[in-house]
Amino acid sequence: MSDKEKSAGTLLKEKLEKNWESAWKDFNEDDQLQAFGHDYLGFLSKGKTERQWVNLSVQLAEEAGYQPLENFLKKEKLEAGDKVYAIHKNKTVILFNIGKEAISQGMAIIGAHIDAPRLDLKPAPLYESEALGLFKTHYYGGIKKYQWVTIPLAIHGRVMKKDGGFVDITIGEDAKDPVFCITDLLPHLAKEQNGKKLDEAITGEGLNLLIGSRPYPENELKDGVKANLLKILNDKYGIIEEDFATAELEVVPAGAARNVGFDESLIGGYGQDDRVCSFTALRAILDQTQPANRTQCVILADKEEIGSVGNTGMHSRFFENTVAEVINLLGEKKAELILRRCLMNSAMLSADVTAGVDPNYAGTHDKFNAPYLGKGIVLSKYGGARGKSGSNDAHAEFMGKMRKLMDDAGVVWQMGELGRIDLGGGGTIAYILAEYGMDVLDCGPALLSMHAPFEISSKVDVYMTYKGYKEFLKNY
Ligand code: MN
Ligand code: MN
Repeated sequence: MSDKEKSAGTLLKEKLEKNWESAWKDFNEDDQLQAFGHDYLGFLSKGKTERQWVNLSVQLAEEAGYQPLENFLKKEKLEAGDKVYAIHKNKTVILFNIGKEAISQGMAIIGAHIDAPRLDLKPAPLYESEALGLFKTHYYGGIKKYQWVTIPLAIHGRVMKKDGGFVDITIGEDAKDPVFCITDLLPHLAKEQNGKKLDEAITGEGLNLLIGSRPYPENELKDGVKANLLKILNDKYGIIEEDFATAELEVVPAGAARNVGFDESLIGGYGQDDRVCSFTALRAILDQTQPANRTQCVILADKEEIGSVGNTGMHSRFFENTVAEVINLLGEKKAELILRRCLMNSAMLSADVTAGVDPNYAGTHDKFNAPYLGKGIVLSKYGGARGKSGSNDAHAEFMGKMRKLMDDAGVVWQMGELGRIDLGGGGTIAYILAEYGMDVLDCGPALLSMHAPFEISSKVDVYMTYKGYKEFLKNY
């Protein structure tokens, strides 16, 4: 229809009204999108723990010319164009692309987290019951416990041995590997269980992992299954039962991330909260083609799912300390003051996922302010719960800058709240970095089935997130 044929009302609406359209509309970067999706699937399938994610990220960073901070500490010098990474406790990594501008002007920072909800083995996990061998677990982060039974599970992690050495374990991912499982009651005997509330039907102490059933071949040996498992563990990994006390073993869904849907427009996999933002942020900094004007920084942090605590969570000073090292290497006088100015003048995208509208669960969102899969990267002005409590409420000015940045780069974005007011809520690392006085905005793709063993994202949202992050680092 030409403009002449349109009614005055239609023209008015076209001019003034906002329609939040699909990011697939007029989308013409299919080759880049498919290539990016393929890379992401590979990373997501291989990186199931924080340590693994750090290793994968550093590998990619080194290929892009990044060097460890230690190299620069030896040279006692850093300058524009230098690309640096710093690892903390094997579980967090920070990357810097040093810009030409004085660092006191602030950095463009993207902060994501690389931990994900899972089941951790307890310090004394191994026991035998009813002639079966089991591991006790303690879940990490917010899970719906019923989702973790009767699915194939893998074990990843590190065991510190008595002699100070360690062994890294990954079992359940290769097609030749065995997997592990938490059993559930058959429906025939589940009358009592079915009558319980969803969050009480499966208990934390009931999440025990089935790991074997064949006893050690010696008659009358007590707990023969456990004995046989200890033998296998000792043969395979050289560990003894006491070593579990000094281990970090994570039980996660087994298997690779996959394309989802006949049209392969979606991605399904474990740990997309928040490895989708970690991967897009990492690629956003590594794929910069021009020297940085403002120093660019990507933080991949641990422990967000349990409140950003501990010395690898964002409440720890490792980030601030690392920036102090960078400032010192840049030869700044009054380093402490420059550090304060740098952090105050920085801007950060708190790169985390949000909850997309699920057609199976109508009414969880205010539909006018809800994020939808396929409508692009979500700018969440605030998160939190019950009256924005605990949220970083981004300022209109910063939102305005981000909006212009995204629009100018052809990045499709949408607004989003985490869900309907008073229904629940949640936080990210946004408020922690905001304590320095820097501008912070929550910004990432929407997921379905967040925190489930198999989370769903939209490929076009993932791609728009990458484009948006890249643009922010380059031009903020
Ligand atoms: Mn998250
Ligand atoms: Mn989460």
